[in-house]
Amino acid sequence: MIRRRRSLRFVLTSWYSGVVGAVLFVWGALLYGAVHYQYLHHHDEGLRADARAVSAILLLRPDCSKLAPAQVERLALLNSRILLRELGRGEEEIFRSSGIARILPAEGLAPRIADIEADSFSTFEGRAGAVRMYSTTVASPEGPRCVVLVMDSLGHVTEALSTLRWSLLLTVPLALLVAATVGYWLAGRALRPVDEITSLARKIEATNLSQRLPVPSLDDELGRLTNTLNQMIARLEESFSSMRRFTADASHELRTPLTIMHTAIDVALGRERNATEYRQTLAALLEEVIRTSRIVDDLMFLARADSGNLPLQKEPVQLDVLVSEVAVSMGSVASARGVSLEVGASASISLVADERWLRQMLYNLVDNAIKFTGPEGRVELTIELQNDAAILSVSDCGAGIPESQQARLFERFYRVDDARSRDTGGAGLGLAIALGIARLHGGDIRVESRQGQGSTFKAYLPRASSTGVH
Ligand code: ADP
Repeated sequence: MIRRRRSLRFVLTSWYSGVVGAVLFVWGALLYGAVHYQYLHHHDEGLRADARAVSAILLLRPDCSKLAPAQVERLALLNSRILLRELGRGEEEIFRSSGIARILPAEGLAPRIADIEADSFSTFEGRAGAVRMYSTTVASPEGPRCVVLVMDSLGHVTEALSTLRWSLLLTVPLALLVAATVGYWLAGRALRPVDEITSLARKIEATNLSQRLPVPSLDDELGRLTNTLNQMIARLEESFSSMRRFTADASHELRTPLTIMHTAIDVALGRERNATEYRQTLAALLEEVIRTSRIVDDLMFLARADSGNLPLQKEPVQLDVLVSEVAVSMGSVASARGVSLEVGASASISLVADERWLRQMLYNLVDNAIKFTGPEGRVELTIELQNDAAILSVSDCGAGIPESQQARLFERFYRVDDARSRDTGGAGLGLAIALGIARLHGGDIRVESRQGQGSTFKAYLPRASSTGVH
């Protein structure tokens, strides 16, 4: 876990440094380019201005190849080095600034002069470094055309650019190093609370699920993460405690028939018995075995439904037919208790479902309705269609269920009146199973009940359900 966090910190820092490095590189390159352009532009403007001045001086006389002393004097005053040649014929040199030899290449400029384009800039390597040159021609009215070459060493430009280059080469890596260090520190700072949450969450185990992580005051990403983790721990706590409750209830439910059987066998073996007595004991044992295996079957159903391992054989089921069949088969149980079981409003609805399990769900609901309705009572089964869901209702006029208990009714092993319900033979699993079946079909069961007036259990079964198909 710690290694992961460190690598996240490393990844964040690397990305941050990479981006900062790229930005610095682009910025440095642009800056260098801009400064380079500005210096050269400024230098070129100076050469061009001097070239204009040379042209003006040459045009003072009608023949540019014959310079008067005053012209030579003025040419010598210009900043740039000047080289004037006559164009055509012997290409004689007309003028050359003093000291020009210091910046020209050792072999001179002669071989290049033919390549020089008029009104253009060029750069060449001179004796003392790079030299920038502007060339133009002057056509004098009465003489030959003259080539004007205006040049100057690029020394101060290259010097300034080299200083800038070195400054960038030194400051950019330094800035990158500072950025990476700050980024690493920031990433560590940002991830520290995550580390704290991790080590606190690690301490929370199955035995202390009531603990919660301290929620930071800010509603930021970490606050939301902590809240989500706390909600998850709460769900875990709830599911752990319901599992514990379930295990305790299941063992309790199974222990009761086992204790009864144990006692019955003990009593039977206490002394010699006749055949009738043994038969009575075996009949009592059989009853308890049936009761125990029913509970085990129910538990197995719930376990398989929970794990999604319950195979459903879905096929078209005619609900009204199913309801009538259940009413007929439960009729004798109802009349044995003096309860009248009737099928009320019943639309003709068919849906795709596992008929066996739907029948089981109905049995459980109707069985409860009969059990918890006194003699002279009435139980009614109805079917209706609402928003493309079939609603199967089982209503009774029994004692009803207190509102405070209704929410827990579908919990496993939950009985409203423990003692009374145990007398009726239920282990408190019937409604949990009925709800499990409804949910496997993508539906739900809800209860409406009023104390003293009776209860109605409504199973909502969507007709186009895709859930629960295995
Ligand atoms: P049981 O097998 O004990 O009937 P159920 O899960 O079917 O278990 O029902 C849980 C409890 O809900 C019952 O013990 C009973 O207290 C209550 N209950 C269920 N159906 C009705 C009903 N129609 N009228 C009143 N109480 C009911």
